[in-house]
Amino acid sequence: PKNARPRGRQFFANPGPTNIPDSVLLAGAHQTVDFNDPNFIAIYDACVEGLKRVLKTKQNIFLYTGSGHAAWEASFVNLLSPGDTVLILETGYFSLSWAKMAEDLGIEVRSVAADWRRGVDIAAVRAALAEDSAHVIKAVCVVHNETATGMALPVAEVRAAMDATGHPALLLADTISSLGSLDFRMDEWGVDAAVGGSQKGLMLPTGMSFTGVSDKALEAHKTSRLPKHYFNWTNMLTRRHKSFVGTVPVSFFYGLQEALRLIEQEEGLENVFTRHSRLARAVRAAVQHWSGNNGPQLFCLNPARYSDSVTAIMMPEGFDADALRAVALQKFNVSLGGGLGPLGGKVFRIGHLGDLNEPMILGTLATVELAMQVAGVPHTPGGVGAAIAALA
Ligand code: PLP
Repeated sequence: PKNARPRGRQFFANPGPTNIPDSVLLAGAHQTVDFNDPNFIAIYDACVEGLKRVLKTKQNIFLYTGSGHAAWEASFVNLLSPGDTVLILETGYFSLSWAKMAEDLGIEVRSVAADWRRGVDIAAVRAALAEDSAHVIKAVCVVHNETATGMALPVAEVRAAMDATGHPALLLADTISSLGSLDFRMDEWGVDAAVGGSQKGLMLPTGMSFTGVSDKALEAHKTSRLPKHYFNWTNMLTRRHKSFVGTVPVSFFYGLQEALRLIEQEEGLENVFTRHSRLARAVRAAVQHWSGNNGPQLFCLNPARYSDSVTAIMMPEGFDADALRAVALQKFNVSLGGGLGPLGGKVFRIGHLGDLNEPMILGTLATVELAMQVAGVPHTPGGVGAAIAALA
């Protein structure tokens, strides 16, 4: 039949949602329980504490049934009032989407513009903050890992720029494609709202998101006037779960309990970061090798900002990334990420976060190289060897 895929397991190399470990899948397949059942409450409370450890915070957390966009929206409506101004650091498609959401909610947006291939200049961030001597900017919004470009942002340097200029704005950080893959330190970096989602580093299905919230942000929440109901933290604090307005999605917590066990007990959070950085280096070694002979290149031109959870790969002029992705998917059952927004057709992405090991990465890289041969995309063959050398 049309669109039938070759036999064998699909290699899923998207940067999110990501592969779900079998034990997490099985744990989530749990019969319904009352979310007020004391047995469930014990699991729930332990999961909330575990999420705080992954966020590296001792402060507050609020959860939502909804994907990352829900937590984005929750962070705005709980902290801001109509006409407030936010400063958004441009990183790529997701920073632009967050800015668009702010505008739709009646928030004024200022941006620090950036070259998507080099990343935002922290000196420009500092200048934008210094210029705002009236402290009109109520929140600075950063995307810790821009999933569209494969670039990470040094959040600690943004915090340092805020401190150096004495700017009192809240710091909001999107950790959707970094949490549980790249080191993120909410309290140490003075992040006031950390936006996270279930479907990437936490290795769960899509559909639950959350915000780590500082005590300072909770104070600011008390005077925020943007309309809210489902997302209202004050409503949530009146409930036993101190979160969720409405039914608690219990299955997620059986999955999360197991995911936290894998992350914290079986592997260790710091080892999770090391594994991601090791696999990422292998992917970059392959792409740098292919780039000879007018082949595809790393989209990121700033090695200090390379992302260890996703690599965006720029096609040679005149070659369509989506055509290459279609060959990989239809002939070989390897699912690669596409280019987003203006990068559509120009870039493809290899997600290397979550439940992933060397054979999965090498299999994906080998198949990308095969697909390039089949699709007639110029490249220097032997990228897999370069990846093996990086791993060995
Ligand atoms: N922010 C980043 C960095 C993302 O990668 C994504 C999704 O990929 C989002 C926000 C939006 O999250 P969701 O698709 O879960 O609503």
